[in-house]
Amino acid sequence: MRTKLSAVLTDDNKRKELQYNSIFLLFFCVSLFMTVLNVITRKGALTIATAVFAVLCLVDFLLIKKGGKSGTMIASVLFSAEMVALFTFFLISGNPDGFSALWIAMLPACGMLLFGRKRAAILSGVMFAILIFFFWIPAGRSLLQYEYSQTFMMRFPIFYLAFFLLSALLETIRSVTQKELDKLREKYKYYAAHDYLTNLLNRQGLEEWYSTFGALGEQAVLMIDIDHFKNVNDSCGHDVGDLVLASVAREIQCLADTRVCRWGGEEFVVWFSDSGKMCDPEAIRSSIEKTDIEIPNSGKVLHVTISIGVAKGTEPLGTLVKNADEAMLQAKNKGRNRIEYYARPD
Ligand code: GH3
Ligand code: MG
Ligand code: MG
Repeated sequence: MRTKLSAVLTDDNKRKELQYNSIFLLFFCVSLFMTVLNVITRKGALTIATAVFAVLCLVDFLLIKKGGKSGTMIASVLFSAEMVALFTFFLISGNPDGFSALWIAMLPACGMLLFGRKRAAILSGVMFAILIFFFWIPAGRSLLQYEYSQTFMMRFPIFYLAFFLLSALLETIRSVTQKELDKLREKYKYYAAHDYLTNLLNRQGLEEWYSTFGALGEQAVLMIDIDHFKNVNDSCGHDVGDLVLASVAREIQCLADTRVCRWGGEEFVVWFSDSGKMCDPEAIRSSIEKTDIEIPNSGKVLHVTISIGVAKGTEPLGTLVKNADEAMLQAKNKGRNRIEYYARPD
């Protein structure tokens, strides 16, 4: 239940739909309950008002369910108008014993939940103006059908305003927190699939990409390993090693016309979903060999070489990587800085 709810709450559209539906359902249930109560206590016009409102809540609920985007828009405009109309009726009639006016205090919180700060502020402002007109302006007071106490008429608009400010504060905190969470989610999603040092895909990223796009025909995999990379770390330090890794990664990514994965350490995997579109491994090998890697603040330039294993076939990615790795080890055994092709055993 909790995981289902968090899946809904992290999707903007689904969260909005849930908010609308819960408010409509809440108001429908309350209005229905109040209608029954009004029938029992013989409240006349109030019974009709709450019954009509209950039906309208159902209509709004169905509009959201069936009407798509335009249905949501119509339902939200209708619901705003319905709330203002019902609460104004409550205010004027005062039925029973002036209590109905208290429902008006719910409007700012509902508005914030459904429409966000700007629209909720406009809606609450309209209701506030209506309150002021009927409670503080003599022309409005003369239209009231219930004799509210002076204290109530003086203080209720202030109570309403405080409620509005509290709702706006809560909505501000909620929306800022939501935005920060969205940003963090995007960031962690990126780093779950990418390598921090080189910005290439990591293993998980490659697997996700493979499972999304897959391959139908023959694919190709290059397994690329930097030669004697440990020597770079040992002689120039780990920082320079990192710099070399980033530089080699950039060069491979530039030449391979597909996304590249840092498989681990100083090993890279390049996957081509269509072997016909495989780039020339020799172009990568010779380009890396010729690349000058400048070491900052030292005036020194480093050169590294790579060994490449190539495997082609219709097997799953994991098998092709294993085969390409085998071919790459052959390239190491044959003296490094070369390319070997995996030969399937007969
Ligand atoms: P070979 O030609 O046989 O591949 O020799 P090699 O030295 O490249 O291979 P080896 O497996 O002996 O060493 C790999 C080194 O890569 C060891 C490890 O410290 C280094 N390494 C792995 N990841 C990183 C990294 O993120 N940054 C740096 N600077 N070094 C790394
Ligand atoms: Mg290695
Ligand atoms: Mg190596």
